[in-house]
Amino acid sequence: MMDGDQLIFLGTGGGRFSMITQTRQTGGIRILGPHNIQIDPGPGSIVYSNKLGLDPRKVDSLLVSHCHPDHDNDAEVYVEAMTEGGTRRRGVLIAPEGVYQGNSVCEPRISSYHRSMLDRLVKAAPGTTVDLDSVQVKAVKARHEDPDAVGFRVKLPSGDVGYTSDTEYFDGIEEQFAGVDVLVMCVLRPRGAPVRGHLCTDDAVKILGEVKPSLCVMTGFGIRMIYANPDLEAQFIHEVSGVKTIAARDNMRLKLDERREQRSLRMFLE
Ligand SMILES: [Zn+2]
Repeated sequence: MMDGDQLIFLGTGGGRFSMITQTRQTGGIRILGPHNIQIDPGPGSIVYSNKLGLDPRKVDSLLVSHCHPDHDNDAEVYVEAMTEGGTRRRGVLIAPEGVYQGNSVCEPRISSYHRSMLDRLVKAAPGTTVDLDSVQVKAVKARHEDPDAVGFRVKLPSGDVGYTSDTEYFDGIEEQFAGVDVLVMCVLRPRGAPVRGHLCTDDAVKILGEVKPSLCVMTGFGIRMIYANPDLEAQFIHEVSGVKTIAARDNMRLKLDERREQRSLRMFLE
């Protein structure tokens, strides 16, 4: 069906007002490869997935980074899809403690009823590594309002993909993504507009001063970022950091070609 692995952005919005207004979709990211992985299904994810002809019943691995609705809202719906409405025990959920049990800032985000449908539940804390045959998922630290929030690294046959999820800048964030081929960063705010718990353009430049992926993809745009124009922010980051950077678009498909030419991954945008 396809060559190599693909990342499909079912959404590029982040934060309350992007989510409420759906100025940008909030469907998270689908990874198609040896596994069918859904990361952070915010509101509308199930709708956008079906609209693109991506059957949510084929998802076998659900990764939820933290308990905020723009990242976890459709998680239970995916569990129902993955398990044929709960009739077939199937699939793995990889998520931090708060998503399962709740914590100081949130209630459990996936009911025990839905948890019982899945084949495998993995509690993800920074450093947790999960082997899914030819794909490896590793949770990394994020510093966000949800104290249990994590980011992920997903090692695919055609490349290593990092995903910051929602986090603010902290010492050591770069080391966690050392060696990734593609770094997906949730950059809520534009230049000169930092905010607690999130990355802005200036933070992205700082991170790319250390991490040197073949490609950086920005996503998780808040309203202020959208007004500032994410394409212009990406261009700025590219110029200052020297790392090829693009702003994801809703429904964008990124192919990680297996045909490596020297060290550089070839990326195809559709
Ligand atoms: Zn969040």
